[in-house]
Amino acid sequence: MGGGIGGLLLLLVGAYFGVDLSGITGGQQASSGGGQQGQAVSGDEAFQDCTSGQAANEDVDCRVIATAESLDAVWGQLLPGEYAPPQLTLFTGAVSTACGDATSEVGPFYCPGDRTAYFDTAFFQELTDRFGASGGPLAQEYVVAHEFGHAVQDQQGLLAAVQGDRAGADSAAVRSELQADCFAGVWAHHAASTPDPDTGRPLLQPLTQTDVSDALSAAASVGDDRIQEAATGRTDPETYTHGTAEQRQRWFSTGYDSGDPGTCDTSAAQL
Ligand SMILES: [Zn+2]
Repeated sequence: MGGGIGGLLLLLVGAYFGVDLSGITGGQQASSGGGQQGQAVSGDEAFQDCTSGQAANEDVDCRVIATAESLDAVWGQLLPGEYAPPQLTLFTGAVSTACGDATSEVGPFYCPGDRTAYFDTAFFQELTDRFGASGGPLAQEYVVAHEFGHAVQDQQGLLAAVQGDRAGADSAAVRSELQADCFAGVWAHHAASTPDPDTGRPLLQPLTQTDVSDALSAAASVGDDRIQEAATGRTDPETYTHGTAEQRQRWFSTGYDSGDPGTCDTSAAQL
């Protein structure tokens, strides 16, 4: 338990894009103290430059922040008195967290140790360029919503089960990741009808079929089978950590269709 639950869970939630994070949680690349070079800015600071819906449409950093606002509004309504907005940090290059030092290679992740969702927004370009997602705003917003899904799990005490069962097609890790995808779908269901407390208006216009297709494309692009197939030409279900393309799409759709987090109980479900 050397790294504590935070370190272990970074392995889980940070491996969103199938990247091996062992290097930053105790391996050779880990640095102690001082951290690595990079720039990080909290959501609150960054938000000062993002004051309009137009900014959210044109600037990817602002879109992440606006999406976080929407997520806070939706989950605050779904789980009144239970949901606490996680912290948000945008970074470039590298960032020091309670879960260890991370670089952009990690992809977006949630760190339970400091209850913060971390995003290198340059990574969204990789979602299309490297992972082959169709792109589009909802593809990016799905990624933000997935990480906030981990925050919800953290607050609901649902992350503990993952310890000690972090790989395999039927593992607690995969079940947890698919639940985060389902929670992302729940958010999407409500995003266009839940008013932002600041403006009284919802963040999103009603979603189009293209939007939903973009989110599903993103979900599929980071399926374990897709990533493994692209990397090695074969798949090894025993090493799955996040679920297949088909599973990720299906669980996002489950949450999106129902809008009810209760439909996202993957713990005992047929995956
Ligand atoms: Zn995840």
